[in-house]
Amino acid sequence: MISQSPTKTFPAYDYPAEPYEQWDFDVLQIPKEELSKVIINMFKHLNLLSAFNIAERTLYTFVEEIRLKYLLNPYHNFVHAVDVTQMMFVLLTHGNAKQFFTHLDTLILMTAAVCHDVEHPGVNQAFLAAIKDPRVAKYGNSSVLEKHHLGVTFALLADPRTDVFAGLSVAQAEEARKSLRNIVLATDMARHKEISETFQRRLDVPEPLSCNSEEDRVLLSQMIMKCADLGNVTRSWKVGSPWCTFLAEEFSRQGDQEEQHGLPVTPMMDRRLIDVRKQSAGFIGFMALPMFELAARWLPELGMHVVPAIRANVDLWKSMLPPPEDPAAGEGCLHGFEHSTPIDFV
Ligand SMILES: [Zn+2]
Repeated sequence: MISQSPTKTFPAYDYPAEPYEQWDFDVLQIPKEELSKVIINMFKHLNLLSAFNIAERTLYTFVEEIRLKYLLNPYHNFVHAVDVTQMMFVLLTHGNAKQFFTHLDTLILMTAAVCHDVEHPGVNQAFLAAIKDPRVAKYGNSSVLEKHHLGVTFALLADPRTDVFAGLSVAQAEEARKSLRNIVLATDMARHKEISETFQRRLDVPEPLSCNSEEDRVLLSQMIMKCADLGNVTRSWKVGSPWCTFLAEEFSRQGDQEEQHGLPVTPMMDRRLIDVRKQSAGFIGFMALPMFELAARWLPELGMHVVPAIRANVDLWKSMLPPPEDPAAGEGCLHGFEHSTPIDFV
């Protein structure tokens, strides 16, 4: 995909384009020691430090603490957090989503993207429940991982060294915490259908979306977070496809742990059965593409820069599949994927 010139949509920013300003940003090309700096530069680019009295030292310490708290999973690691934060940045700026949010929303959305998977254990909620992990009882058996990510984030925000919301008024800080919670909870793929359908119903109402409506802003902030979280499916094949392999490896490691615990191995986590081509074609084609097509009704830029790339990726994954044994099955190996559970992805 060709990156868009920042001057086209942002005449106010006349300094040279940074890699993080590109739709097809490749986070894997960024040296590990530079990753935190990329986040800080994006916060600066959005004028968040000056607008909300955030000391650069505090932001740096916050991002570094978050970095250290991400575990070294194949997929849910700090590199994914930077990738998602960059997708959030590009959706807000070149995607023209910023006009639908307040400046405080922008701070909250960027912070949510950084923190949204912190301390992800690399296994899903079903596995945590099966091994009686105490977090399942603590968080009431729903959105356990997302509530844990929030718990870790709120603990950092309670520490003056890392409280990036310290410069906000009491009312702003209260709103920031409430929104952060709404946004991170929306990344639970168990809620994918509910949020997508609510969004579709809202788009079908003739009244335009407005940043003056709190209800609209809540829904849009959840949708933009979901789009950012699945951002790697929008990158070119070379940039995005490795993430499908990372996810398959993380699933396989859960399957290995299921076996070690004497649990039945979930078929999609069984490294002897996993087919990354089938999983990727199915997930991107049936889950991610419809969501981005919906989001393109809100942000037309996505129809130009994002949707064609996702379609190309689905086609490439499909082209790698073996021919269907039963040609009457239509989608061949993908037949039936649309009925499988989405909650194990991302
Ligand atoms: Zn994520």
